[in-house]
Amino acid sequence: MEENKYCEICGEPGEKHHIVFRGKCAAMINAKINYKYLCGEHHRTGKEAPHNNRQVDIKYKLELQKKLFQMFSNNYYHKTEIAELLEIKPKEVDQFAKTLMWYSEGYKSLDIVIKCMGGGLYAK
Ligand SMILES: [Zn+2]
Ligand SMILES: [Zn+2]
Repeated sequence: MEENKYCEICGEPGEKHHIVFRGKCAAMINAKINYKYLCGEHHRTGKEAPHNNRQVDIKYKLELQKKLFQMFSNNYYHKTEIAELLEIKPKEVDQFAKTLMWYSEGYKSLDIVIKCMGGGLYAK
């Protein structure tokens, strides 16, 4: 997929916004699903900017959470599948999976999504 470097709201040149921050889940930093391009105003300074507006921040997190639940729609996943779906490196998945409970069938999709979201789910 071609990467769009323009603000998805207004079309001005954009900068990368991470929906779940590095401190919350390091492995999500390189996951495409976790970032979007926004111009300075729509990213940081404007009143619709996620870094300036808690509601917009939550709205983006809810959108991401929904996409993750669609992405991990089976009950269990193995590391290789997680790496493929999130498009991250095996090393990043190793780090990611360290705190996940392993079942004989794999890692539970709910645990994976919670981990991706930084340790908790968001509700409207
Ligand atoms: Zn913009
Ligand atoms: Zn940002």
